[in-house]
Amino acid sequence: MTETPHPLLPATTPVTRPDEHTVQVGGADGRDGVRVWPAGPEVARLLTGIDGRRTERALRGDWSAAGLDDDVVEDLLAGLRGAGLLREVTAGDLLATDPGPAAAARAGLELPTVAAGRWRTRRQSSVVVEGATRVGTPLAGLLAASGVGRVSVRDRGLTTAGEPVVGGVAAHDEGRPRVLAAADAIRRASPLTDLRPLPATQRPDLVLLCRPWAAVDPLTAALQRDGVPHLVATVRGDTGVVGPLVLPGVTSCLRCADGWRREDDPSWPATAAQLATARPAPAGSTLTCLATAVTAAVQALAHLDGGDCAPGVLDAALELGPPTFQPRLRRWPPHPGCGCGARQEGVAEREVAAERGQWGGE
Ligand SMILES: [Zn+2]
Repeated sequence: MTETPHPLLPATTPVTRPDEHTVQVGGADGRDGVRVWPAGPEVARLLTGIDGRRTERALRGDWSAAGLDDDVVEDLLAGLRGAGLLREVTAGDLLATDPGPAAAARAGLELPTVAAGRWRTRRQSSVVVEGATRVGTPLAGLLAASGVGRVSVRDRGLTTAGEPVVGGVAAHDEGRPRVLAAADAIRRASPLTDLRPLPATQRPDLVLLCRPWAAVDPLTAALQRDGVPHLVATVRGDTGVVGPLVLPGVTSCLRCADGWRREDDPSWPATAAQLATARPAPAGSTLTCLATAVTAAVQALAHLDGGDCAPGVLDAALELGPPTFQPRLRRWPPHPGCGCGARQEGVAEREVAAERGQWGGE
């Protein structure tokens, strides 16, 4: 399989005619664009052909056979590249898209936002969402609609009257198993995503912990032991919490965060024990839940895509909530007493942050 890049002009790029002899590509709303003059009907045909399905060499061959001037083609491609309007996809990316015109139309909006070769990586990824909560279900839908190949939601509860949320379970789901209501919600956004549970022998690429207090969940210890990356995405009170993203043995774990909490608050162990056994409080407002889900999806996709997309919540968490929903970074470096194997250089960062008053309690 060749990995020769295929040029793609995203379908979302505005193409306008400032006058009858000129075509403008992009350039709307203060962004860079390209103007072609004089522009006959062949230019529009040329632009619609840059759909990511052919290599640049094949495109040039087609255009040359159609009688287009090589200099016009050269100038236009150079201009589009110079303005940052062209994306590149690979044959592997194209093959990783679900078949059918509807799936192609949906992928056409997602694929240009991913670096060349990363779409295939994303399509091959599998995630598990622990908790079909007002954060977990919309988050699962976001990941599925963004191209993640397999999204499995785990939850044993029944949907209650307070749980419907935009992008999540619906009001008429009350009384149904949450896991089924969540599957319906995901399919509304992405009908072809594989929602089957993973076989016991298959390790997911990422587990999203969407219940309020993951650190006290025995599940977390198993993920840490098995080396499965996991990301906290939940709402506590009315504060959305995204992070830390734990890469076992590399970055700080949830026990590290627990260790820091103990140092900050001597009564934390008693509080944590009560939180672990209490019936979970209702999740926060719709805006808090959805802002948390979107923020978590960005971090999860950065991890799944790999490459240069380093997630911002390694050894840290983003917290956000009303009224501004402005994310606040809270650092959770490895704790010296934890023993999880995470590198320790972040400890000094925490001490600096504490001195600056950036280390508030929860
Ligand atoms: Zn640790």
